[in-house]
Amino acid sequence: MTELLSNYVAGRWQNGSGAGTPLFDPVLGTELARVDATGLDLPAAFAFAREQGGQALRALTYRQRAGLLGAIVKVLQANRDAYYEIATANAGTVKNDSAVDIDGAIFTVGQYAKWGDTLGDLHALRDGDAVKLGKEPVFQSQHLQLPTRGVALFINAFNFPSWGLWEKAAPALLSGVPVVVKPATATAWLTQRMVKDVVDAGVLPAGALSVVCGSSAGLMDALQPFDVASFTGSAETAAIIRSHPAVAERSVRVNIEADSLNSALLLPGAAPGSDAFNLLVREVVREMTVKSGQKCTAIRRILVPAEVYDAAAEAIGAKLAGISVGNPRNEGVRMGSLVSRAQLNAVREGLDALAAQTTVLHDGRDKPLVDADPEVAACIGPVLLGARDADAAQRVHDVEVFGPVATLLPYRDLAHGIALAHRGHGSLVTSLYGSDDAALAQAALAVAPSHGRVHVITPEVAQAQTGHGNVMPMSLHGGPGRAGGGAELGGLRALDFYHRRTAVQASPGVLAALGL
Ligand code: NAP
Repeated sequence: MTELLSNYVAGRWQNGSGAGTPLFDPVLGTELARVDATGLDLPAAFAFAREQGGQALRALTYRQRAGLLGAIVKVLQANRDAYYEIATANAGTVKNDSAVDIDGAIFTVGQYAKWGDTLGDLHALRDGDAVKLGKEPVFQSQHLQLPTRGVALFINAFNFPSWGLWEKAAPALLSGVPVVVKPATATAWLTQRMVKDVVDAGVLPAGALSVVCGSSAGLMDALQPFDVASFTGSAETAAIIRSHPAVAERSVRVNIEADSLNSALLLPGAAPGSDAFNLLVREVVREMTVKSGQKCTAIRRILVPAEVYDAAAEAIGAKLAGISVGNPRNEGVRMGSLVSRAQLNAVREGLDALAAQTTVLHDGRDKPLVDADPEVAACIGPVLLGARDADAAQRVHDVEVFGPVATLLPYRDLAHGIALAHRGHGSLVTSLYGSDDAALAQAALAVAPSHGRVHVITPEVAQAQTGHGNVMPMSLHGGPGRAGGGAELGGLRALDFYHRRTAVQASPGVLAALGL
């Protein structure tokens, strides 16, 4: 039997009482470890975090909590090699893809440590200036932000076991709010190991960080009115979370990051071989293949002027043909595996669902795997689909295939292209490619209402640009509508979710005595 990964709740390591759910190496098919949360006293665990962890964190200032984040960065950096090994084994990712998750997390915590330091030795934040409530300024209203007196529960997706934890935990801990994380079962090992390293290093107060591995049963039930819940995952599970009594009846604040049909749009006038055209091709290929397309921000729909459709299909297909797929331990492999055989089946089903409305422009499914057994490994080569009638291909705008799959769609004119981008019904990100600043700016404003982030690429930012799918802590992550309606990161804006806004109405003397 493989090791049962322990849960850390109520200030101690506790094993579930069940046999556990196995975690696998998605390339070799071997069992790696098991997780189980059966029998944990979750209400007691949450109470411990809320009371002990919350009090201890709130007793510190923002600057002191930023110092805790700095200490976490050191712990994570010291154990980086072990994290890469776990990612290779449990997620089947090549080194560059593991870096997006692991180094992306460390970078994000480091950023919040820096930003938090600028907030100073305060216990609450001033929100705007005081305003007078009558004719004379003798009675005024001052808005404040105070850390919520509850826990932050994170229910995370399988594709970012490291970054998914830390991009949420950094702003929560900086805000003074204790964290309980429940990683997705398939890849829970890396999350559990990182929490273990931070707990063992003793850098956080008791109750500040807990981890529950295994089933989600009972987690939402344990939430109280001042707690918050941040969910990342599928739209189906998001709907269950939204309708849970904790949210519907106890007003637990909830943030949802769900699936998204992100697009990339080449502006009119970019001829095949132009800088803008080549930049689109490069970015599409990168987005389809990084983490085998298992990124919520990956490009799923490629919108190009009808006259360059064939040239775009050829150029993207040619680059995809050069992608080697297989065992991430082989240095010649560019793209590793999906996270599990279950995901491989889900990708195949997704391709089947799109088949009736698309044609296959490049088929990586035929290509032999490097160092991997196709009967065992969860590997699949990239597939580029196309639909000449972008309006009629409804499923392309509906079905998210969470793998190395994207669909090329032609548009008649820019208005049509923008309308197609909106057909995602709310997406995390879109990217625009061109060389005319004014046209790009207009297009950016036109697509913005249905997107959390608009990534505009011109030739002069070719080297400096941070990548369509890379979520930088400086920018908002989250999108309206189908993308879940959530908002994460965006610098210190992320702290809003973990604070409560209060208006204090008083004399200028009382307001000055607040010391903010
Ligand atoms: P999922 O099946 O919805 O699972 C997400 C999490 O919810 C897992 O931790 C899962 O636990 C848990 N869960 C399952 N059923 C639950 C329930 N009834 N109550 C509470 N929690 C429950 O999603 P996934 O397959 O892991 O992730 C893939 C999806 O996530 C994709 O659609 C992708 O687009 C989306 N995603 C979005 C973002 C973003 O930032 N917008 C980022 C990454 C991924 P178990 O694993 O134990 O079942």
